[in-house]
Amino acid sequence: MGINDLIRPELGGIAPYVPVQGEFAVRLDANEAPDLLSPASARRLAEAAAETQWRRYPDATLKELRQAIAKYCEVSPEEITVGAGSDELITLLLTVFSNARPRSGARRGPPSVVTSIPSFVMYKMSSKVRGFQVVEVPMGADWRHQTDKLILASEMCEPHLLFLASPNNPTGTVLSREEIVQLASTLPETLIVLDEAYVDYADVHHLDLFREYPNLVVLRTLSKMGFAALRIGWLIGNREVVAELEKVRQPYNIGTVSQRLASVVLDELGPELERIVEHVRSERARVSDALDAFPGITTTPSQANFIWVRTESPAESVFTALADRGVLVRSFHKSGGRLAHQLRITIGTRDENDVLLKRLGEVL
Ligand code: PMP
Repeated sequence: MGINDLIRPELGGIAPYVPVQGEFAVRLDANEAPDLLSPASARRLAEAAAETQWRRYPDATLKELRQAIAKYCEVSPEEITVGAGSDELITLLLTVFSNARPRSGARRGPPSVVTSIPSFVMYKMSSKVRGFQVVEVPMGADWRHQTDKLILASEMCEPHLLFLASPNNPTGTVLSREEIVQLASTLPETLIVLDEAYVDYADVHHLDLFREYPNLVVLRTLSKMGFAALRIGWLIGNREVVAELEKVRQPYNIGTVSQRLASVVLDELGPELERIVEHVRSERARVSDALDAFPGITTTPSQANFIWVRTESPAESVFTALADRGVLVRSFHKSGGRLAHQLRITIGTRDENDVLLKRLGEVL
């Protein structure tokens, strides 16, 4: 017996997450917003950062930032928990909602989560490493969440949590309000985690449903809006759930600079955010049309800042040929099956998108 025997067995098959390394002229692989911050806004952020009292710990209560989020989302500060990205909020949820519970029927075993596949990988990763069983329900032929199958799977395995990204990463498709309501009302003993990371690029949001359904919480983030560097995500839910999450959140999880700058972004840079969103939405339409005009390419209508692209030839060859020409996108070929023909392409600046389309034309 050595210390290796003390390590969680779930870590055996897992590698650390390492984004693709290297220099690429155009990176459209990580769903980041295009670099469109105005010099005035960049100066304002630098000024705010310069006021930091470096020797002091950050505000453990996140007072200013929670107020800024509360105003931005029209909720109260007691309905908000802030994490180092929504990634951290996912781990906090898994910590709080992990109590073993008696199950109906003969089923026994570890707590479980249900989610769709393909979807955001951290739902699965973070759950697995904490000993949760993960049940993945395939997205439909139209790459939409299959509500009826999610309900069926949940009725069978009685999950503690159901993770749903809407818009979904990587497909860009959304759940309708009726579908979310159906899930939340049919599964009152499961926490429904509605991840709206990309909602600013979508036509509608469903944040208000947390008031009607105590088993529903909503995740949001600044990462997709042009401020991934700050690592700021937040959860909105009823006060009882938030109070429990606050017990497991580390007091200094968000650094002073991130707290301050995120507050400035939300309080003062609203027009800047709107401008970036407008750019992305209009480029999304233009790039989708241009992609669909290529032979052997089909796109799925997207409500996010990326496009889910089917390539007739294997995605791996298109991905590699683009990377060789300095354009990095995200390929799903390693997952195999129908994903072997899928790429996810983030919307960039107009110039970046033009380079992508030009290089893709050469490759195809
Ligand atoms: N949710 C979804 C659906 C995502 O795609 C991502 C990032 N890829 C996240 C959450 C994590 O975002 P953050 O940077 O806030 O941790």
